[in-house]
Amino acid sequence: MFANVIIDQDSKALDKVFEYRIPNELKIEKGMRVLVPFGTRILQGFVVDINENCEYDANKIKRIISVVEDFACIKPEMLDLMKFMCKKYHLRLTSVLRLFIPSQMREGKVKEIFEKKCKIKDDEAKIRGQKQQAIYNYLKENGEEDFSLLKEKFGYSALNSLIQKDIVAIEKYQVKRTPYTSNVKDKKVVLNLMQQRAVESIKNSGVYLLHGVTGSGKTEVYMNLISKVLKEGKNAIMLVPEISLTPQVLASFKARFGESIAILHSGLSVGERFDEWKRIFLGEANVVIGARSAIFAPIENLGIIIIDEEHEQSYNSESNPRYETIEVAKFRSKYNVCPLVLGSATPSIDSYQKAVKGEYSLLELPVRANGRELPKIQIIDMMMEIRTGNSGIFSKQLIADLSDVVNRKKQAMIFINRRGYSSFMMCRECGYVAKCKDCDVSLVYHKEDKKLKCHYCGKQYKVLDVCPNCKSERIKEGAVGTERVVAELNKLFPDVKVLRMDNDTTSKKNAHAKILEEFKKSKPGILVGTQMIAKGHDFEDVVLVGIVDADQSLYQSDYRSTERCFQLITQVSGRAGRSKDEGKVVLQIYSPRHYTYKFVANYDYKGFFKKEINLRQTANFPPFTKIIRILFSHSDENVVKDELKMCYNKLLKVREKYFDDIIYMDAMKAPLKRIQNKYRYQVIARCKLEKIEEIEDAIYACTEGTLKSSVFFEVNPQNMS
Ligand code: ADP
Ligand code: ZN
Ligand code: ZN
Repeated sequence: MFANVIIDQDSKALDKVFEYRIPNELKIEKGMRVLVPFGTRILQGFVVDINENCEYDANKIKRIISVVEDFACIKPEMLDLMKFMCKKYHLRLTSVLRLFIPSQMREGKVKEIFEKKCKIKDDEAKIRGQKQQAIYNYLKENGEEDFSLLKEKFGYSALNSLIQKDIVAIEKYQVKRTPYTSNVKDKKVVLNLMQQRAVESIKNSGVYLLHGVTGSGKTEVYMNLISKVLKEGKNAIMLVPEISLTPQVLASFKARFGESIAILHSGLSVGERFDEWKRIFLGEANVVIGARSAIFAPIENLGIIIIDEEHEQSYNSESNPRYETIEVAKFRSKYNVCPLVLGSATPSIDSYQKAVKGEYSLLELPVRANGRELPKIQIIDMMMEIRTGNSGIFSKQLIADLSDVVNRKKQAMIFINRRGYSSFMMCRECGYVAKCKDCDVSLVYHKEDKKLKCHYCGKQYKVLDVCPNCKSERIKEGAVGTERVVAELNKLFPDVKVLRMDNDTTSKKNAHAKILEEFKKSKPGILVGTQMIAKGHDFEDVVLVGIVDADQSLYQSDYRSTERCFQLITQVSGRAGRSKDEGKVVLQIYSPRHYTYKFVANYDYKGFFKKEINLRQTANFPPFTKIIRILFSHSDENVVKDELKMCYNKLLKVREKYFDDIIYMDAMKAPLKRIQNKYRYQVIARCKLEKIEEIEDAIYACTEGTLKSSVFFEVNPQNMS
């Protein structure tokens, strides 16, 4: 017998199947990891196929040396998924396989923890002394006990003599690191009619789009669907954006499903992640909840896949290996013949269009589960504020509403999508702007740390006191960030607890949970944050949401920026008035005439969708076309330029061949010309859909061959910077 093996090495040259002979004494299955001789080395590989015959010369073929584990860690479904992903995204076989198992497993770093338990084995005839007798009595009473606890209680020597004399036996058992425990009680709710209808409608395989306003009880629908699936003896995967995996959310799932859930997210330690993976692999967990990569969980017999906040851009990986989580989920739901549920208060234009076209089944939850109105959104024109003499961060209305919240001992959230104190530091005399040495971006001022920081590479610099160019001391600060908002709030409301939640305050483990815990207790209290505060949180006493500087997400060089702006404002607004008290949103903007705001303020998703889809159609943008972006980067600018030129010449031939289908194609510097000392150049092509797969393959082929630059190939890029 012969095995097809993929070598676990990240190299283009090795990215194919190699044949090995299976020695008679080895029991090899598809999906196992093995050790094989390769050149002069011994390398790890994955067995992806087993055949009776080989294509290579049978006399020269080498033998598999041994297995890495005695089980197949890649299940058959995942081998098919690998083929699907490699074809669709032009990925290397190895890099896809690596997505399927914990990286620590490959490096052989994970140690399973064992603990020792003691119990009585023989009678007390040989016991000497009081201590030994005490241990014996203790075990007789309690059955068994941890070795370490007995050692602490009675001392090592007495315990050890009992073990030596075989009176007490030691048993090893494996300790599972459970990443999360909770004492939250399960909230019993009776589904309302619309929730019921949604649950009942989702039964056959296919894709369902659950469009439910914020607070409509989508989570309760998901939980009911999962319960239904578990009763049928099947399993479930539910994906949530990383930032929504709050302790609150996890606790409510743990309360409902207990030990049958496994949680996968980036906050887990290496060991915890491996243990969860293994529980899933062995079928000990029936429900997997996690962020993006949990879609690769080794769970079989799936009865449902749920993707919450389906519009979130974090579901698409922004670096190699690139993949789209929804597409992977579609593959798995087809393979398992089960429903895929995409849920959101603000579906992506792309998904909603598919629902309109009948490709997805549309289900709607148009009202909040508790029957309350959605909070009223009041738009404040900040240009008008400036004209009437208020050049501060907050409008008069927002200050008045905040004072009201404070007087009523309630809570408010202030959303600003920029961390730090101000977006840049600039010399008023000569216009000098502090920039990162390695990146083509201006540095953000962090007042608390007294530093200028690069948000792309993390490098830190000294704050400007004088301009290094003209020695002027007249330094101007750029647009407001979270730190500055907190500072201003502290001035306005010196007695009120103001908390900040952004990447800077949540970098330590559990910091996130601590801030939320503290906010929960603070009444009155104000939580200032970036998009981290936009979703998942369900605080009863938040009656006001202030959105400062909403426009900044509108004007990015990105066809999705209006869509994103609509989504973000709707999500943040959804945090207000979730319980008994009515909620309100103050939306401060600088360009009041933009169409997005009218729709946002009326919670008119459908109106917004109509407008946006018409614009996209007229302008030939996705979902009516596809945008392909190839990003080249290298530390030597000449290398990238030359290689870009070489590829572009090949691409021009593709353009010629598909002249009617490629609407636009050009090569240029990327908007961010340099990040971490790497120069970035790109080719952008916009293509009609009829022959898109052919065109994608042809375009991709132009970048093949050995290039020095790293090449990132993306379709409908999430981020065009
Ligand atoms: P969404 O995810 O749609 O924003 P949630 O699932 O967080 O909404 O639900 C919002 C609140 O409504 C939660 O506190 C939830 O417990 C509650 N809720 C959900 N369904 C019901 C129901 N049928 N009756 C009463 N309360 C409900
Ligand atoms: Zn200057
Ligand atoms: Zn930098």
